[in-house]
Amino acid sequence: MPNTAGYFKRAKLRIYFVLHKKKRIFAEKYKTDMLHNKLTFEQVEQAQALIRKADHIAILTHLSPDGDAMGSSLGMRCFLEQTGKADVRVIVPNAFPSFLRWMPGAKEVVIYDTQKAEADAFLENAQLVICTDFNEPKRIGTLGDKLVSLACPKIMIDHHLHPVEFADVMMSYSDSASASELVYRFIYQSMNGGGCTFPIEQLDVDAATCLYTGMMTDTGNFSFNSNHPEMYEIVGQMVALGVNKDAVYNNVFNNYSADRMRLMGYCLYQKMRIYPEYHTALIYLGRKELYRFNFQSGDAEGIVNLPLQIGDIYYSCFMREDKATAAEREQHGGEKTKIKISLRSQGDRPVNVFAHEIFDGGGHANASGGEYYGALPKAVERFLQNYGHYFKKE
Ligand code: 5GP
Ligand code: MN
Repeated sequence: MPNTAGYFKRAKLRIYFVLHKKKRIFAEKYKTDMLHNKLTFEQVEQAQALIRKADHIAILTHLSPDGDAMGSSLGMRCFLEQTGKADVRVIVPNAFPSFLRWMPGAKEVVIYDTQKAEADAFLENAQLVICTDFNEPKRIGTLGDKLVSLACPKIMIDHHLHPVEFADVMMSYSDSASASELVYRFIYQSMNGGGCTFPIEQLDVDAATCLYTGMMTDTGNFSFNSNHPEMYEIVGQMVALGVNKDAVYNNVFNNYSADRMRLMGYCLYQKMRIYPEYHTALIYLGRKELYRFNFQSGDAEGIVNLPLQIGDIYYSCFMREDKATAAEREQHGGEKTKIKISLRSQGDRPVNVFAHEIFDGGGHANASGGEYYGALPKAVERFLQNYGHYFKKE
């Protein structure tokens, strides 16, 4: 009679050891690969080679810069300065919000809208252009025409879908929650065998603070797109470098003007329309309403997210009337009014196809935007005629 009980015990033990070993090997691999598994070795090498050869470097980021745009560009600038580059400048297409003015290096940022001559002169002399947080020249307005006219090499580091091939090195990863995270990874990988001589533990705390800001704002303080363990490994390293994450939160989210707070109250109390069948909210503001609240660039940031705090609202749209620039007027048959559209959603309810097909825009599945050239009521009408074909009834 075979000893079946003993046999099963031995088999169980063997399975346990095999599984345990597998887990151990995985954990080891994970530990060592963690921040090495995103950008390719070639991308880091090629970008570093271009950086090594350049003394005058321009860093560009997208229109109406947000926390990630400012964080990724200023973080990259800080890092380059630490490696000995003395002439690095961040150029943004238009003004950035006041709640980002505290960021290290923000005072030196050149704004294309108001400092065109200075920016053009710098760009014409630049030996390298680094583009962060945008994926096509169109996303930086008229600065985009200048960008494509430049003969110097270009590096792109970004996390938006469907990038246009305009740079020599394209580090484009749409599964990353922020461009700032990608810049951190670039720095990390540069320092770990990628051609940079000092260890990550010596990264300037200002660089880490800028990059942390971008990671924080593009994930709504780690409340969406934030289920990746590596993100917290990076945050851990940043805090160890000296980033004061509580202070960053306060600087960004507890730094509104009274006018902006009142504007938010007005939007929620008087302007929010709810379409319960489609779990959708819509808020739109005309120019007169904006004047009433002394609207400043950035004041509308985040308003689109507010209706998602309602239990059964899964889609939110925010529209704001703006003036078209001279170049935009030319492109859109002389139309003077531009409507800026922001879309947000929760879970498996993409809004980027709607943004692309209805409002000539795009973006991420849960955070997209677009434009409409024409009167605000017309844009609202266009929204109402089409959202039912794209949003889920449930
Ligand atoms: P926001 O609503 O914060 O302005 O934009 C959210 C996201 O939508 C941005 O990160 C960007 O990916 C995308 N987006 C906003 N406006 C436009 C646009 O006009 N065109 C495209 N292609 N994407 C946009
Ligand atoms: Mn971003």
